[in-house]
Amino acid sequence: MRNQHTLATAVTCSGVGLHSGQPATITLRPAPPDTGVVFINRKDDANVSLQASIEHCVPTELCTAIHGNGFQVKTIEHVLSALAGLEVDNVYIDITGSEIPVMDGSAAPFVRSIRSVGLISQDRKQPFLKIMAPIEVSEGSKRVRIEPSATPRITYSIHYDHPLINTQTYVHDCSSKAFETQIAEARTFGFLHEVQALWARGLGKGGTLDNTVVLSKDGIVNQSGLRFLNEFVRHKVLDLIGDFSLLGTSFIGHIIAERSGHALHTRLVQQILEQPEKWVLLNTEPLAEERQPSLLHLARLQPSVALQAS
Ligand SMILES: [Zn+2]
Repeated sequence: MRNQHTLATAVTCSGVGLHSGQPATITLRPAPPDTGVVFINRKDDANVSLQASIEHCVPTELCTAIHGNGFQVKTIEHVLSALAGLEVDNVYIDITGSEIPVMDGSAAPFVRSIRSVGLISQDRKQPFLKIMAPIEVSEGSKRVRIEPSATPRITYSIHYDHPLINTQTYVHDCSSKAFETQIAEARTFGFLHEVQALWARGLGKGGTLDNTVVLSKDGIVNQSGLRFLNEFVRHKVLDLIGDFSLLGTSFIGHIIAERSGHALHTRLVQQILEQPEKWVLLNTEPLAEERQPSLLHLARLQPSVALQAS
């Protein structure tokens, strides 16, 4: 159990949007305790804010997006993964467009930016949602489940009929160090025929070999090779950590995913909220009404958690 963290100072990341191909810039800024992750639309000084939480989520097959208050932010999963992976609980993300920059297709550039400014510990406990009974969602052969465990852990399996993948399984014991050294560098991947079809439909305009591992029939198109032999399954773990952070707080449980994707990851989060009898919130302090709405929502589902009189 630990206290909450935020950034020591602001840091900016610039690149292009994966889908739009347009320049995209975000600035991560320190935020007070119990803020969570909040996107702020700085286009034309609109200043509209949107909490990164499951009720705003619009999952697609290609990326995870949030929508609300007339404002949409696409491809949020890699920056959310970097924040959750490094235990950055409270942050404002200023954005001028509607897409997070794709950077190199991994979470590593966000990790380096966060590390360059450092974190500070805040005077407030970080709540943990501890799973007490299994919860599972599935669709055909795809499934993702969370079950009780003493520590947070993710086991991910993927199966593709491709000589570089076949079956890959990865077990990640969640810690900021393991995230930084084993998960953050793993890049997005796609099959050549899919990527070509996407580009033909005018999607994925920002996708290049600098930010996507492209699989050909029996190898990869990228000259630079792979960062890990099992980079593919590691990237799935990266995506899951980002998607799962839409829960709004840290978790203790074992997530087991098979052939899953963004839509199923976020459905699991929804199912957790719908079954409050299967978890408890630990390390909480009384919550005030103006605090992070999704955290407050979790607390309301748990009669044992005190809400601060407002
Ligand atoms: Zn991804």
